[in-house]
Amino acid sequence: MQPENTEQTVRLSKGKKFLFGALGTIFLGFFVASTIYLYPLLNLWLKTYLAFLNPTELNLENYNNALQEQIFLSRKFPKSFIPTLSVFDKLETIVEQNLKESAIVSDLPQGVIIIQKGVLGKYITKSSVAKVAGLEKESIQNKYFLKAENQKEINGTKSKEETEALIKENFEKLVNALRENQTLYYFPAELNVNDKSLLNGLSIQSVNTYSDYKIVSDKNKVKIGQVKIFMENCSGSNTLNLVFNINEKTLEFDGINVFINALCKERFTEVNGEIVGTCEDCSWFPVNKTYALRPDYETELVYLDTISGGQFFSKAAYSDLLDLNLALQNSGFSLAINSGYRSYYTQAYLFEYYVSIEMANGASRAQAEIIANSYSARPGHSEHQLGTAMDVANEACGNFTAECAGNSSLYQWMLENAYNYGFVLSYPHDRVAETGYVYEPWHWRWIGRELSREFWDVRGEISVNTFLYNKGRY
Ligand SMILES: [Zn+2]
Repeated sequence: MQPENTEQTVRLSKGKKFLFGALGTIFLGFFVASTIYLYPLLNLWLKTYLAFLNPTELNLENYNNALQEQIFLSRKFPKSFIPTLSVFDKLETIVEQNLKESAIVSDLPQGVIIIQKGVLGKYITKSSVAKVAGLEKESIQNKYFLKAENQKEINGTKSKEETEALIKENFEKLVNALRENQTLYYFPAELNVNDKSLLNGLSIQSVNTYSDYKIVSDKNKVKIGQVKIFMENCSGSNTLNLVFNINEKTLEFDGINVFINALCKERFTEVNGEIVGTCEDCSWFPVNKTYALRPDYETELVYLDTISGGQFFSKAAYSDLLDLNLALQNSGFSLAINSGYRSYYTQAYLFEYYVSIEMANGASRAQAEIIANSYSARPGHSEHQLGTAMDVANEACGNFTAECAGNSSLYQWMLENAYNYGFVLSYPHDRVAETGYVYEPWHWRWIGRELSREFWDVRGEISVNTFLYNKGRY
């Protein structure tokens, strides 16, 4: 009996161990699950309740967070377990009704709603609103999120036709003022045109209006439309943007000085049968297959000692490049530049090198030049001579192929963010016919933050080169 008893005791303790082990595992599993799923669920309920209690705390950020959490939880729990966020929508309406100032400005096109935010306001962009709302642009016309001290809402009432007429009328007013040396309230007297003959033969080629809504927070101007002007004297064209100044509640043209400076100016000359720019500072010159930089064109350079690659870069673009580098680092990337500034003569050498390779592959000299010209530039025709262009190295792509670089996370980051630091993609995949260059996801050009942000709005329609040509800042 004795041995049997002992065996039973041993068996029992084994069973107990197993039971405790199983309970422990279940408990641990429950603990892990509650941390990952239950805690966020309870937290979202609490947040929704708090938002209901305290509407003044509502802002874009906590709505966005709640929305993200709702999406996360909807994959783990049945719908009925998750709080709806309608409380946020309801409270948003309450906040909207508490606008400090609201105005209807008859000079604005219909559908244009400007919300100017005060010092406490959060920076809200059109796209972030669209992202938060999870909606397409069209359906969020009147959806915005507010939290600011001195909020202002401004609505437009003008139809497209009326807006076009307004732009034309203002352009005529401007030309008359320039003819008679009058000073309009929005541009100073020193911008007078000395040679009045330049103003002859100016005619309106086309008018574009922006009837899309805008949400403005930190900028005080909103674009109403654009007028394209034909200059008969030199068969050139020029553009001006009519903007609404939110603070002054007035209409004005943006960049009149640029317009005046570009009035039939000789912007090109001929050197050795080539059309070259006459610009002193060619940072905004549209370098392409047709227009070239002078062989002696150079810009002030700095050596990039904190960015890997041992390259030189334009001094004017240097601080933006450092900011870009910092932003990249903060996002987990490290910037290295394969090619920055290249002189006219370096480019000449490089082009010759590519031509020799094509000839070695069996092409004639003429054929080789044509082939080489699709991926390399003739001397004077390279943006690298500006000192403001760079070929970004990509660790993930040992071999510099467009497929690899174009699919990398670094490239995606650059596509979404580089324009905030003044950098734009010169040769995108959908502009090959326009630029004459193959898709180059590594090649970025600095055009300054002001222009790069302006270019951002038209990037789907034209290349940087065309954009710069139209701007005429050279
Ligand atoms: Zn390049």
